[in-house]
Amino acid sequence: MVDIQSLVRKNVRNLKPYSSARDEFKGSASVWLDANENPNNNGLNRYPDPLQKKLKARISELKNVPTENIFLGNGSDEAIDLLFRGFCEPRKDKAVICSPTYGMYQVSADINDVEMVELPLTLDWHLPLEHLRSLFSDDYMKLIFICSPNNPTGNSMNRQEILTLVSEFNGLVVVDEAYIDFSETESLTSELGKFNNLVVLQTLSKAWGLAGIRLGMAFANSEVIDVLNRIKPPYNVNQLTQEVALKELADEAAFKKEVDAILSERTRLKTELSKLKRVEKIHPSDANFLLVKFVKAKAVYKALTEQGIVVRDRSKVAYGCLRITIGTSEENTQLLAELKKLES
Ligand code: PMP
Repeated sequence: MVDIQSLVRKNVRNLKPYSSARDEFKGSASVWLDANENPNNNGLNRYPDPLQKKLKARISELKNVPTENIFLGNGSDEAIDLLFRGFCEPRKDKAVICSPTYGMYQVSADINDVEMVELPLTLDWHLPLEHLRSLFSDDYMKLIFICSPNNPTGNSMNRQEILTLVSEFNGLVVVDEAYIDFSETESLTSELGKFNNLVVLQTLSKAWGLAGIRLGMAFANSEVIDVLNRIKPPYNVNQLTQEVALKELADEAAFKKEVDAILSERTRLKTELSKLKRVEKIHPSDANFLLVKFVKAKAVYKALTEQGIVVRDRSKVAYGCLRITIGTSEENTQLLAELKKLES
């Protein structure tokens, strides 16, 4: 077991967190004159629940994780930022990523003035285990970010390798599972009981189709969750987000149907793309996108944008590759038609 308190930034450990009106009074009442709100009921005149208890109860049921092990944020991007703020002393502590990966880990480190060590993934885009291990003796190394399935490569990392790192590292291992619902691999949330230094991030922005409401989840030991709660803005998840999330999370059947449709489109797109001469390689994907290596990727990107189709140019971080999100069946058909025109 890792001593979590020893990882917490000193000023955060000593912090007296803001205590909101809704934090202080716990009973039931009919007259609320404690928070300087406008008393006229329009459905949104009251501050939201700062700890989002109803929403966490539903998420707990869905994910099979106790509520005290759940943190909710304004997107998982907020959780990423709070992990730096809570656990990394600026200009002293460090974190590590394995590239190419999601860009916000580096940006959050830069904002928080935390040194980021960047290791390359192996040639087949798996974790550089020995390289990572060589950093474990550095007392200032606090966070390892592992994105699985990884953005932009699309593959999942090896579960046993992640768990080996978790068991050997004395800091926090943050596994970002933003795309887990598109994958057949099991979430690492089932391992939370065994490791107090494992943090799993998920989001409603991808498979749940709710990028617009900004709802991210961090699952971890309650000591880690308490740190995030202490430093978050008091009402970081607004009332509308909490209401919409609760409503949408009620319908798991609709969610599964949409995910299945996206997955069958992923298969179709992969099959059709593989027939094109300009397509050199389609990387295996456990996510809702395909990383595709094209002959002259930049020219392909430009030709598509001229037809109003925007994909993501990842050629700088993954040589010759464009990242293509799986769209609706019609959108994918349109994309394929434009790519076919480039063949002649
Ligand atoms: N993690 C990964 C791997 C992502 O690709 C993204 C969004 N592109 C996020 C996190 C951010 O998710 P959210 O919308 O919950 O902030």
